[in-house]
Amino acid sequence: MEKRMYKVGILGATGTVGQRMISLLDNHPWFTVTALAASENSAGKTYAEACAWQLDTPMPSWAAKMTVVKCEPGLACDLVLSGLDNAVAGEIEDAFASAGYAVVSNAKNHRMEDDVPLVIPEVNPEHLAVINRQRKNRGWAKGFIVTNPNCSTVGLVCALKPLADAFGLRKVAVTTMQAISGAGYPGVPSLDILDNVIPYIGGEEEKIQTETQKLLGIFDGERFAPSSTVVSAQCNRVQVRDGHLECVSVELEKPATRERIISVWRSFVPTAAALHLPSLPVPFISYHEEDNRPQPRRDREAGRGMTIGIGRLRECPVLGWKFVVLSHNTIRGAAGAAIADAELLAAKGVL
Ligand code: NAP
Repeated sequence: MEKRMYKVGILGATGTVGQRMISLLDNHPWFTVTALAASENSAGKTYAEACAWQLDTPMPSWAAKMTVVKCEPGLACDLVLSGLDNAVAGEIEDAFASAGYAVVSNAKNHRMEDDVPLVIPEVNPEHLAVINRQRKNRGWAKGFIVTNPNCSTVGLVCALKPLADAFGLRKVAVTTMQAISGAGYPGVPSLDILDNVIPYIGGEEEKIQTETQKLLGIFDGERFAPSSTVVSAQCNRVQVRDGHLECVSVELEKPATRERIISVWRSFVPTAAALHLPSLPVPFISYHEEDNRPQPRRDREAGRGMTIGIGRLRECPVLGWKFVVLSHNTIRGAAGAAIADAELLAAKGVL
């Protein structure tokens, strides 16, 4: 690809996802952060004053000194990464795309629109082709919106993609144990989550079900045909800081053996690997042989938070096969996902 640095603005820079973006973009080889934007409460303050930094790694000094601005077009950058609250993301992202910016969004607002790509680089990079239709539909000459999936959908779909390609996939039943950081900051009140599991996360089950079908579906050059795989999700909030663990059962179309399934996961080479995107991990999937892995605390940082952990593959008397998946929700499921999508856009010359 062309050797150049792209200027990046971060919308929602003070939030959980925004902070992760800043941390992951520190010394990024292709992207340099030139604008940090958040709500009117934060605008005008330095980033150090505006942000309650939650990460264990220090706030990068270049970010601490920057002045936070309002989320309005006019930022000096080539693209914006959005970690905006869902309540405001839709309109603000539209305004930026309409003003000519490439927008990569974490928010749910645009994900399921039929001219918006919902992309994981290792799963469906070809879905970016819908951008031309999006521009035409919306009368946007230059700008566009690309989205990454919900944090619990990402780990699931990365585990399913190699199975769908090798064996075909009829049915999926997934039960999630989702980390507290998935609810943003301050998120779930401590007295609700300590010593507890909350068996409900609003809208999450529907997102997993529909986004999985879009991601595993086909874009035929005109429109998306969602995958016919039937997906049923049950979502729980647990008292883990980072890392969503998911118990998955699948019904495959073709016969498989345990050895063959593990080999399919381990040998899966995404087409996007040829693009050498800085954020794509090697390995993409790590299969754990131990009976008690993967675990959030011990395994979520694998591949700088981008590797998908899988374990406990065994026969399921109901659907055929069952296993456990782990993914880091604020990295692979959010900030790292958006950055990887932006790298894909850069490598494909879309920026
Ligand atoms: P968060 O911690 O609550 O941060 C929200 C951000 O939005 C803050 O920077 C906030 O700025 C900004 N904001 C709020 N109201 C605004 C307004 N009216 N105008 C401009 N900016 C405004 O939320 P989060 O957890 O980072 O989530 C951000 C997005 O990513 C959400 O759409 C969420 O669904 C999605 N997501 C989150 C995760 C996760 O694991 N947390 C995973 C996947 C996707 P101020 O600080 O100035 O208020």
